[in-house]
Formats: sequence, structure tokens, C-alpha cells
Amino acid sequence: MLDLVLPLECGGCGAPATRWCDACATELVVRPDEPHLISPRIDPGVPVFALGRYAGARRQAILALKEHGRGDLVTPLAGALATGMHRLLSWGMVDTPLTIVPAPTRRLAARRRGGDPVTRIATVAVAGHPDIGVVQALRMRALARDSVGLGSAAREHNIAGRVVLRRQRPHTDVVIVDDIVTTGATARESARMLRAAGLRVAGVLAVAAA
Ligand SMILES: [Zn+2]
Repeated sequence: MLDLVLPLECGGCGAPATRWCDACATELVVRPDEPHLISPRIDPGVPVFALGRYAGARRQAILALKEHGRGDLVTPLAGALATGMHRLLSWGMVDTPLTIVPAPTRRLAARRRGGDPVTRIATVAVAGHPDIGVVQALRMRALARDSVGLGSAAREHNIAGRVVLRRQRPHTDVVIVDDIVTTGATARESARMLRAAGLRVAGVLAVAAA
């Protein structure tokens, strides 16, 4: 129902009469050497990969999904994530069976935005892959402020100690998936908690690196 009342425009560039134009689709294509290994300021202790920079159509699509309820953009973002996962598998960076753990979002923020977008993207990305599951094993304690607009020190302080395990646990090696990796603070806390639970964290894969 929600889709019907949204104006028909590209979620990447605003072009009329299409939800996702060819130019934006091209921008999101995962090239043969991607995802790239990146070095966030705060080292999460595991390899961090990003499908591209947080800019242009990629940035607009992530924002439109998170802030403006553009659920139709889950499909192109999930397509890119799926290609990225295939690359990590073919490079031997990860192995199946594998569980994707979405990076935790502040629960209230996720609810307000129509469900956790990272979980939605990950779930669509691995649909049909029986050896790769998605388990929401982490949550962000309510104390954590939404990190939008915080600098790196404030962001790290905001996240420290506030990522907690949920009852549902993966039974395989784990890849943490996030929409945007900025300072690496969330990735580090997430990896730390999962390792403390005895899990092997193979790496982090983000749709965008800011
Ligand atoms: Zn476009």
C-alpha cells in the first residue's frame, strides 16, 4: 500500500517515471575487484569490506530506504550485497555454512523507519541460499543515541558497551553486515560481542563506506 502513494521517481537520482533508473543501477554494480578492503579509524579486529563509497546513488538509495520508507530499494541494494557475498566466498574470505548477523540498530529508530533496513537487505540478498542464513543476534541497548550527526569520538563512546547479544544465536561462522561503516565503532562492538559468545567472525561487509 505504501508504495502506491509514493511519487514515482528514481530512489538514486530523483529522475521521474522510474523507481530505479539504469544510470543508478550501473552505479551500484559491484565490479570484479569489489568489495574493497577498507580501514575504518576504529579497527574492528576483522577484515572490513565495502561495496562502494557512501556517495551518489548508493547514498541516496540507503537514505531513501531508511528515512523515507522506500522499501522498493531493498531489491537493488540486496542485489549488490548478494554479489559482494559471492565475491567473498569465491575469494575464500568466507566459507559456507555461514550466518549473516545484521549490525544492530537502535530498536526505536528501526521501528520508526518501517523495520530494520539492514536485516531486510540481507534477507533478500541470501534468499535461496540454504547454506547462508540471517540471524538478528545483536541489538543496541536503548541508551545508545542514534549516531546520525555524531563525530567519531562521540560515536565510539555512544556505542561502547551498548551492543548486546539477543537470545537467538548463530551456529556457524558469522559475517556482520551493515549499510554504512563510518568509524568502525559499531563493527568493533558487534565483533567483540559475537566473539565473546564463542563465534568466529569472518569479517564485516558494508553496502557503503563513509
Ligand atoms: Zn537514478
